[in-house]
Amino acid sequence: MEIFNQLESNVRSYCRLFPTVFKTARGAVLEDREGRQYLDFLCGVGTLNYGHNNPQIKHRLLHYLESDGIIHGLDLATVAKEEFLEAFAEIILKPRQLNYKVQFPGPTGTNAVEAALKLARQITGRETVIAFSNGYHGVTLGSLATTAKASHREAAGISTTGVNFMPYDGYLGANIDTTEYLDKVLSDAGSGVSLPAAVIVETIQGAGGVNVASFEWLRSLEKVCRQHNVLLIADDIQVGCGRTGSFFSFEEVGISPDIVTISKSLSGFGLPFSLVLIKPELDQWKPGQHSGTFRGPNLAFVTAKAALDIYWQDDSLSSAVKRKGKIMQSRLEEIAKNYQSAGFSVRGRGMIQGLDCQNGDIAEEIIRQAFAKGLIMETAGAQGQVIRCLPPLTVSEEILDKGLTLLEYTVQEVMQETTSQKLVNLGAAT
Ligand code: PMP
Repeated sequence: MEIFNQLESNVRSYCRLFPTVFKTARGAVLEDREGRQYLDFLCGVGTLNYGHNNPQIKHRLLHYLESDGIIHGLDLATVAKEEFLEAFAEIILKPRQLNYKVQFPGPTGTNAVEAALKLARQITGRETVIAFSNGYHGVTLGSLATTAKASHREAAGISTTGVNFMPYDGYLGANIDTTEYLDKVLSDAGSGVSLPAAVIVETIQGAGGVNVASFEWLRSLEKVCRQHNVLLIADDIQVGCGRTGSFFSFEEVGISPDIVTISKSLSGFGLPFSLVLIKPELDQWKPGQHSGTFRGPNLAFVTAKAALDIYWQDDSLSSAVKRKGKIMQSRLEEIAKNYQSAGFSVRGRGMIQGLDCQNGDIAEEIIRQAFAKGLIMETAGAQGQVIRCLPPLTVSEEILDKGLTLLEYTVQEVMQETTSQKLVNLGAAT
């Protein structure tokens, strides 16, 4: 890691957690320079729903490259963009009776969130938005202001403004409906909270600790937004594109967000690509008002269309995700059962599942030891206390089983070590 330590900024992060130099990848398996293989249950934080170097998608990309298709990223009308838009409308929007205009805001998730917030403020003429405890929406100034974790916001060096945080579902305990509080605050001129332009919400908070909002809570949130004439922005960047089983995570909930952000696995190949979906009557941008040089990622258009063609023309992927999600959940629950006294628990939907270890040090130790055994995962949550599993949606049940077994062994080892360490400390203290 010498070159990286010498030359790359101190800000680098994932390479510290997984200190090896990766060289190749296929499906759910990453390989490092020494030829060591790792099962990838992180998948570029959910950017590889169809696996690394998916051969069918790669085939389309290679063909496009060989044909001298447009590569650069200006927002010109190109054949690749036209074909993507057509496929997105025909395969995703129409069958779901969704009517959205598509904005290409720039390549990353935070670009989409910035555009969504800016548009909501512009449409309503209101300055603030409401975001939730443990929410994560990106780290550029606008999106950063809606990201809950203090350590992220402190890095801005200035106060992040224009956002009020409200408690997410479950934040105040299982029996408290926090949308009632939101409703009260928005109804009361004495609450101190001004009427916002929008509410931005993740249906499942990924980075925030795999916190799953109930369908009732999300429906009630939508109702509160409608009652107060506030826009609803669904940030589906992490759990969209099939992660929960349906293409959008809110489909089964039955809500109709005004603005949707998606990214991560949208390109289907790990290429940067994000979208803002806008209800047509809200598409009040003036031409060129939100600009950027890289808003036409043609290679991503090609791979995204390939992914839609291959995986979203029927519901076989969706049902596989639901089936494998249940396997993940029940295996994790078996693990958690053994450490109930330490407070372990499991939560998730579809193929995003989290093992809450209640303790960031333990979770990090599990991640590090799992890596040493050849399994890559990440922690989530305010204290990094949740182990987040995001295998490719296309992973075989055999590899899924292998990864979960590795995780099980690792948890066993770490918990044994933790118990022995506690006994040693106890011995030293007496
Ligand atoms: N929103 C959500 C829900 C996310 O999970 C993320 C990334 N983890 C972002 C926004 C920001 O995306 P990016 O890192 O591509 O800027």
